[in-house]
Amino acid sequence: MRVAVFSTKPYDEQFLREANKSAGHELVFLEPRLSFDTASLAAGCDAVCAFVNDDLSGDVLSVLAKGGVRMVALRSAGFNHVDLATAARLDITVARVPGYSPHAVAEHCAGLILALNRKIHRAHNRVRENNFALTGLLGFDLHGKTIGIIGTGQIGVRFARIMAGFGCRILATDPYPSDDARQAGAEYVPLDVLLAESHIITLHCPLTPETHHLIDADRIARMRTGVMLINTSRGALVDTTAVIGGLKNGKIGYLGLDVYEEEADLFFEDLSDKLLNDDVFSRLLTFPNVLITGHQAFFTEEALRNIASTTIGNLTGFERGEEAVHHVTADARG
Ligand code: NAD
Repeated sequence: MRVAVFSTKPYDEQFLREANKSAGHELVFLEPRLSFDTASLAAGCDAVCAFVNDDLSGDVLSVLAKGGVRMVALRSAGFNHVDLATAARLDITVARVPGYSPHAVAEHCAGLILALNRKIHRAHNRVRENNFALTGLLGFDLHGKTIGIIGTGQIGVRFARIMAGFGCRILATDPYPSDDARQAGAEYVPLDVLLAESHIITLHCPLTPETHHLIDADRIARMRTGVMLINTSRGALVDTTAVIGGLKNGKIGYLGLDVYEEEADLFFEDLSDKLLNDDVFSRLLTFPNVLITGHQAFFTEEALRNIASTTIGNLTGFERGEEAVHHVTADARG
């Protein structure tokens, strides 16, 4: 198959080329993000390969279909950015990479918690300036604290196991409770109980119309004062303006983000010589108790290898008309 690979970074090309050696698809690597303006670059291709900030709305899918595209191979687990109803109408198959490395995201989440709690990012800067004072660096023991996990799928379960290792009490909420999470020590409780009792709340559910702004001003008000909020899932699960309000009044004591609702114009690019025009993001950066990474939780060697091999497998499966391709449909729950 001839495949237009959008939003290509050097590491994407390296791992996809390696995985494609035995499959032999014709991969056309394109640096631009997929959008209405760039969709015509895929004309003559059988498939497009897209990442999290590519635009797969109905208008874009229509341009792709006109150019002959019959498949979208996502290099991600999340598929909130795809208009699945339009894809079905245009007879475009959508496949994703479920659970390519849940360890990568769960471990990054734990990293954010440790860094925020013990202020490792601030301590590092101090020591580089020969400032060895400890004032302002006081942390707390994770042992015995209550962790609230919203979404106990692949990542949430791995994260529960990690935090169980620290001796934390684990509360969870998920419309589909899992035995794996229970075995990791999680106790399922209603969301309100989780919000009220957790010292640390972390999001591991997908972004859907139902979960959009799941964390809003009302839910923040129901959290413990000084709560730590972590989002490594999708930016729009959180109402960023409400979170800034919570940081300003001290309700939120720590914020760790790997995702941001308006990240599409920022993340994955080196903008160090440009002015940042996003005032909400700029405000977040002013808080000393906020730690942000640019959607890198997935970014491990193991994950990139799995993403590449599953993506190539999805393309080959589709070409052969096999069922095994990780098909995403409009009624998928994940
Ligand atoms: P998964 O499908 O295995 O698990 C998601 C879980 O969320 C499911 O158990 C589902 O039932 C649950 N859920 C759905 N709606 C919910 C709600 N309203 N409240 C509570 N739980 C709900 O997915 P996963 O592999 O664990 O990934 C979770 C999310 O992490 C993905 O949707 C994606 O957005 C994000 N992700 C981020 C990165 C990153 O690099 N930051 C990488 C991979 C995935």
